Amino acid sequence: MGYPNGLQLRASGLTIPMICRLEELDLSGKRVFVRADFNVPVKKGKITETHRIESTLPTLRFILTKAKSLLLASHLGRPGGKKGPEWSLAPVRDHLEKSLSYPVSLAPDCIGAEVEALARNPGHKVILLENLRFHKEEEANDPAFSQALASLADVYVNDAFGAAHRAHASIFGMAKFFREKGAGLLLQKELDYLGRILSSPERPFVAILGGAKVSDKIGVLKNLISKMDCLLIGGGMAYTFLKAKGIAVGKSLIEEERIPLARELISQAESLGIPLFLPIDHIAAEEIKKKPITTDVGIPATYMGLDIGPQTITRFSQEIRKARMILWNGPVGLFEEKKFSQGTKSIAQALAGHNAISVVAGGDTVAAVMQAGVEDKITHLSTGGGATLEFLEGKKLPGIQALEE
Ligand code: ADP
Ligand code: MG
Repeated sequence: MGYPNGLQLRASGLTIPMICRLEELDLSGKRVFVRADFNVPVKKGKITETHRIESTLPTLRFILTKAKSLLLASHLGRPGGKKGPEWSLAPVRDHLEKSLSYPVSLAPDCIGAEVEALARNPGHKVILLENLRFHKEEEANDPAFSQALASLADVYVNDAFGAAHRAHASIFGMAKFFREKGAGLLLQKELDYLGRILSSPERPFVAILGGAKVSDKIGVLKNLISKMDCLLIGGGMAYTFLKAKGIAVGKSLIEEERIPLARELISQAESLGIPLFLPIDHIAAEEIKKKPITTDVGIPATYMGLDIGPQTITRFSQEIRKARMILWNGPVGLFEEKKFSQGTKSIAQALAGHNAISVVAGGDTVAAVMQAGVEDKITHLSTGGGATLEFLEGKKLPGIQALEE
């Protein structure tokens, strides 16, 4: 099944930005600060989705074999510069302690005298700092706050790909205080797979784009279209394209103002010789709660398209089977509702059942893959939502820039 990890991609000659890898850093006897992305959903004190934490464990385990101590930092939610128990990283501490089989101390804050004393105390090998966003200085990239964080450690490691598009203190500002700094294993893996899509995807390279709106995906479409061998469009965004082609879309989700752009992308694909597939049938309903029908292309006036139909599933799956590399971002239907989830589930299964490098990006799309229970058969599930999209749009991410300097 594809490549099991990023290391083999590196062996295949891929070049990524000139940043130090965790394995190249001198960690022995050092206090190592890791900016991780532990921004997980928490309900009633319980973490409901642990993918982001699990993904960073290899980095933490690697550091624990070498370093004197490990300081972990993350944000959680949007506390907006104020302390609040609902945003505490306590549930993350509990989860880490179990997964690492190591005692993990939760600091009362992320900076300050008490935290400094804790960081100097040899009795605490793994310390989780409290939510960075309890201080408004984090998001303001405040230099004094950056320096206070930096003073806690000797080495800086960024493994928070999901937050790498933010120029915040713990991601951007604090890096310059370190001579010894680099990318954790998760950050490297993200850069390896996503970087490969940008630079030299395996061919045929098939992209599946969906989700609610065209406007969310314009940057990615524009930046990647010339690299694709085939583009499959589903989900709400497909209806703006279908309307641009003069096809009846009923009450489906439409962005009128994006119709010219959809037309432009259709003709760009044509002139580049890239096959662009739109849904040829749909599961449609008059309202989400009403009984759905299956329609061929051309949706009745009072109906909206809420999932791709069976013929489209077959057509898309055929194209997926031709690919050696696949990028999927955006569910192809309103998958949160069971009756509109079959298309998305089928795409997940098509990816899982085909031997190619599969990269799945986007919070909802990753959730859909997990719902389908095929996450183990996907080569790479990206941990970034906004960060992944910005990276694929070709933007420089501050978290990566900070490591390059
Ligand atoms: P991701 O988080 O993976 O990047 P998006 O946020 O772009 O994905 O899109 C996911 C949303 O798109 C889901 O809430 C889903 O219900 C919605 N969606 C997909 N297809 C349709 C459709 N045909 N009509 C309305 N909403 C849709
Ligand atoms: Mg989303």
